[in-house]
Amino acid sequence: MSSQALTIPEILRRLHGLHQQMDQLRGRLMKGPRLAQAHQEQIRQAENNLDQAKKAYNDTRLASHRKQLEYEQKLADIQRRKGRLLECDDNREYQLLKDQIAADEMAASVLADEAIELMTRVEEMAVKVQEAEAALAAAKDAAAKWQAEFEKQEPVIRQEIAQVEQELKHLETLLTGDVRELYQRALRNKGSSALAPLRGEFCGGCNQHVPLQMRSQLLLGNAIWCRSCGRLLYLPENENPHSRS
Ligand SMILES: [Zn+2]
Repeated sequence: MSSQALTIPEILRRLHGLHQQMDQLRGRLMKGPRLAQAHQEQIRQAENNLDQAKKAYNDTRLASHRKQLEYEQKLADIQRRKGRLLECDDNREYQLLKDQIAADEMAASVLADEAIELMTRVEEMAVKVQEAEAALAAAKDAAAKWQAEFEKQEPVIRQEIAQVEQELKHLETLLTGDVRELYQRALRNKGSSALAPLRGEFCGGCNQHVPLQMRSQLLLGNAIWCRSCGRLLYLPENENPHSRS
């Protein structure tokens, strides 16, 4: 079908379809920066988690090291006192040393338990650091893969947008007189929502009732816009009198 053969409702239907297509394409294009931002946010979160895991690991390792020193110090105390015990010839001092050694051995036993517990926790923290490192690598990987995918998609989307724009421009040149003026006004006010089909007795854009007199005008081929939302109305295919012939 050549352009000249298109009726006004046909042109408006096509224009509406193209505007919707354009919205979709622009939406896909906008998704690019939005998703890039979301990926960056995930990376940032993963980096935070890793920092925290590393800090917890280092703190626990330090605590474990200190506990180990404390334990060794206690063992040295015991050895020292045992040495003095051998040289001791005073009964009271002997008993005192024996009591101190017993208390030290008790304390050493507690310290040993605590040191073992801390060493176990250090191992757990090391696993957590590895997990956080893996999560960060995965987040970076996902971001890079998506980026590569979008870089492939973007030129295609832009090309489609250019094609749709061209088609829109061409179809717009086919509009003349009143309908052209009303279309351009609706386009200025409503952007890509400039057009709406008549759905039964209602505006397909805002669902408000369209009076009979206006619907009749539309059927006669006159340009009609919805008084509620300002969209330029057109007849959908099944109500187009020309397509019934
Ligand atoms: Zn409306």
